[in-house]
Amino acid sequence: MALPRTIRNCRPVIAEPCPRKWEALTDTADPAVRHCESCGKSVFFCATDEETIAHARAGECVAREEPEPGDLGRMVLGRPSVPVVVTPEQIANRARRARERGINRVLGRDPAEFGRACSGCGWPVPGFRETCEVCGERVGRA
Ligand SMILES: [Zn+2]
Repeated sequence: MALPRTIRNCRPVIAEPCPRKWEALTDTADPAVRHCESCGKSVFFCATDEETIAHARAGECVAREEPEPGDLGRMVLGRPSVPVVVTPEQIANRARRARERGINRVLGRDPAEFGRACSGCGWPVPGFRETCEVCGERVGRA
């Protein structure tokens, strides 16, 4: 299964559109770091949540892998005449994609609003939220 590396936490300071594709960025000596010619910034590929949170807190651009829509299984509307088969891999991909969406919501915030770390997953939870956007853990208001 191909997992595209999508660029997150990118706040371009110039009007030129960001290509937002890892493959379109310039290689550096470090295989986990690429240079974005649009933003003039380094983009850090993050394999773990911990790496992502650290770079996001520093206000840096990050790239993460997420399942492609084609790997999620088909959406069926109506009454099928045969049972629809959804593989365990597709179920796992859907859960992973939903989690990546929550991560994108966190990464879309100003790091100054990150607040406390979720006791369930470690991702930042702003003080005004009662639940973690990444794992759904109830953390209560700060
Ligand atoms: Zn959490």
